[in-house]
Amino acid sequence: MSTFDGLWAELAPLGRDAGTGGYRRFAFERAELDCREWFVATARARGLDVEVDRNTNLWAWWVPAGVDPSAPALVLGSHLDSVPDGGAYDGPLGVVSAFAALDAVRAADVAPDRPVAVVAFADEEGARFGIACAGSRLMTGALDADRARGLMGRDGRTMAEAMSAAGFDPGSLGPDPERVARIGEFVELHIEQGRNLVDQGVPVGVAESIWPHGRYRLTFRGVADHAGTTRMQDRHDPMLAYARTAIAAEQAARAADARATFGRLEVEPNGTNAVPSVVRAWLDARAADQAALDDLVGRIGTSAADGARANGTQVEVVTESTTPLLTFDLPLRERVRALAGSAVGPVPVLPTAAGHDAGILTDAGVPAAMLFVRNPTGISHSPDEHAEAEDCHEGVRALAAVVGALATGAS
Ligand SMILES: [Zn+2]
Repeated sequence: MSTFDGLWAELAPLGRDAGTGGYRRFAFERAELDCREWFVATARARGLDVEVDRNTNLWAWWVPAGVDPSAPALVLGSHLDSVPDGGAYDGPLGVVSAFAALDAVRAADVAPDRPVAVVAFADEEGARFGIACAGSRLMTGALDADRARGLMGRDGRTMAEAMSAAGFDPGSLGPDPERVARIGEFVELHIEQGRNLVDQGVPVGVAESIWPHGRYRLTFRGVADHAGTTRMQDRHDPMLAYARTAIAAEQAARAADARATFGRLEVEPNGTNAVPSVVRAWLDARAADQAALDDLVGRIGTSAADGARANGTQVEVVTESTTPLLTFDLPLRERVRALAGSAVGPVPVLPTAAGHDAGILTDAGVPAAMLFVRNPTGISHSPDEHAEAEDCHEGVRALAAVVGALATGAS
C-alpha cells in the first residue's frame, strides 16, 4: 500500500552500532550526514526541491504547477538525529512517514492548492551540544546564534567548529522569520514514548499538550574524609543526603503520577576511598501541569534539605531551565484528529512528557499538531524502541488523510 517499507529499509542501517543495536546519529557527524544524504536523494527521486536552510534544517518542497509558492505551506516531518544508542523510530518515523504520505496522496492524484513540504529539523535531541531542538529553536529565534556557535560538544569541538568540519557555514545561523511565516501548519508524526496507545488498544493518537518541565542543579556539600579512618557516626557525607533525596524524589513523582530523574552526577573528589566533599546532582522533573510540577520540585527540595540536615551537610538548589506547559493548537488538533480518524478509526488525545520541534513551533505561534504511533513496550531512547510495521502503515494512512484534506482546502 505504501512506499514506507522501502524507505525505512534504506534508512535503517545508517548510524546503527553493530554492538548495541542502537543508533548514534549526532549532529554533523558522519552518520547524521549520511542520513542527510538519504533525505536529499529521497526528495530528488520524487522531483521535490531540496533546500538546506541557514540553520541546517533540511526541506523538500512540493509546489505543483499553478500553486502560489508564497501561500502558507503545509509542512510535515520530524528529525533524523538520535540520542546515544537511541532507537530507530524517534524522529525518522516522522520523516519517512511524511515522504510515504506524500507518495500516497500523489498516487491518488490529489492536487494541492498550496505548497507541501517535508522537513528534517537539525539536532533535535541535542546529544552532541546539549541543547534540544537546536535547529527549530535557532529558526524561531528561541536559541541565540552566538550561544549556539559556542556550545561545546562532547568531543571537545564547538558547534561552530563541528559545522565547519562538516561543510556548513556557522556564520549563517540565526532567526529565519520569513521561513517561519511560510509554515501555515506543521504536522509531526512521532513514535509514542509511553504506553497510552497500548492501553487503549489503538494504533494512532494525537497530542494534546507537552508537560511543563525543568532542570535543577542540587549541590550537596559536606566534608571530605578518609573512607577507612573516619567512623560512620563522625561523617558529613553529602552522598547520603543526595541518596535520600533521590529516593524521596522517586516516591514523590510516583505519588503525583509525575516524573523525577537524577541522570547526572558530579562527585568531588571522586575517589573510591574518600568520603565526598561535594555531590552535584541534576534533576529533570516533569508533571502534567505547572502546579503539580511546582509541588513536586518543592517536595524534592524539602527532602534534600531534610536529608542534608540529618547528617550535618548543606544543600543548595538552582533552577537551570524551565519550560512551561505547552498546549497544541486546538482547532488544528481536532481537524487532524477527525481526518486521521476517518482513515484509521478512533484517535485518542494524549499528553506527552517529552519535548518536540512541534512544541518549539507552537511556542513561535505556528499552528502545529502531532500524531503518535503505538509503541508496544513504551520504551524510547533505547535500542529496544519499536513499532510494528502495520502500525507504521496506519500512521502513514492517517498522515496521508491529513495531507489530502489540509493541502487541498477540502473539509
Ligand atoms: Zn523525537
